[in-house]
Amino acid sequence: MAHKLIDSYREKGARKKLVELLRDRGIADEKVLKAIGKVPRHYFFDETFWTQAYKDIAFPIGEGQTISQPYTVAYQTELLHIKPGDRVLEIGTGSGYQTCILLELGAKVYTIERQENLYKRTSQVLPHLGYHAEFFFGDGSKGIAEHASYDKIIVTAGAPMVPEILLKQLKIGGIMVIPVGDENSQKMITILRLSENDYERISLDTFRFVPLVGEKAWDA
Ligand code: SAM
Repeated sequence: MAHKLIDSYREKGARKKLVELLRDRGIADEKVLKAIGKVPRHYFFDETFWTQAYKDIAFPIGEGQTISQPYTVAYQTELLHIKPGDRVLEIGTGSGYQTCILLELGAKVYTIERQENLYKRTSQVLPHLGYHAEFFFGDGSKGIAEHASYDKIIVTAGAPMVPEILLKQLKIGGIMVIPVGDENSQKMITILRLSENDYERISLDTFRFVPLVGEKAWDA
């Protein structure tokens, strides 16, 4: 991750083009597009790779993990219908880019990462960039019970099934977005909690995420 904070006309221009590309690909929520247009994605890359930052691609961030493709970040964010003040649980902090998008939309974000180096990096770098979330290190497949319940839950790694324990941490009226499938492909699932025991589940497009590894997910 780059620490020199240079956001020149070159990066700003590339970001604008990325926003137009995402609009063309079907992202329609203007608030989400505005957030993508605002967060300097190149800050999440080593300076050597800045030219890659505004391409619509996932990219390695170390520890065998990736910063998600901008389209995927926009797609998941759009499904969450974030309102200012929403309490959001993010499982899989990764680079912290998705965290910043949620913060730009006015959410209060609780984000958890199981890779210690990534956790350390994001919990230091994001505040430095002016983005303040609550950072946790550990297995997010069990959620974070002590801060539940949440208005929204976003899982940014591919799960074998929807962990029951996460459903219980969602507020009634809350939305969870989680990719579910095998190691090679997952369907994006949105879940709306209708009442204490009722949930509405919608299966959407296919994606390919790194695996959600943990007690309620894939084995390490
Ligand atoms: N949205 C992130 C971004 O934009 O950088 C991308 C996240 S990356 C695709 C998925 C992350 O989930 C990885 O950093 C991985 O270590 C993390 N992860 C996997 N299983 C986890 C678990 N059980 N709890 C917390 N984090 C987990």
